Amino acid sequence: MSKTLFEKIIAREIPAQIVYEDDVVLAFRDINPQAPTHVLLIPKKPIPRIAEAAGEDQAALGHLLLKAGEVAEKLGLKQDGFRLVFNNGPDAGEAVPHLHCHILGGRKLTWPPG
Ligand code: AMP
Repeated sequence: MSKTLFEKIIAREIPAQIVYEDDVVLAFRDINPQAPTHVLLIPKKPIPRIAEAAGEDQAALGHLLLKAGEVAEKLGLKQDGFRLVFNNGPDAGEAVPHLHCHILGGRKLTWPPG
């Protein structure tokens, strides 16, 4: 199987503005930001999307959620708030088949989402 775009970012084959990394996850700035702060947080394991995560991914996904909060705080979003988004499948607009959590903040976000 060929590498996804995000696997290439993990492997440093494509440049990215990395804001956090550990053994399990990587966070980098979205190339087309939808808010003043827009970061993608991904597991290093190439899980395609949340609906295809398995029991064995529980620890990695729990870790990812805890890191989402920490990265948001590091980016100065804790006080005013932020949104986490996982797009899953075509109706949600998923474009990259490597599970990713959008961390969005820095402006008032509307609800419901478009
Ligand atoms: P989604 O639509 O949920 O699959 O989100 C994919 C996201 O990846 C979009 O917000 C894109 O702007 C972002 N993206 C695509 N290519 C890159 C890249 N090379 N570096 C950073 N973000 C990217």
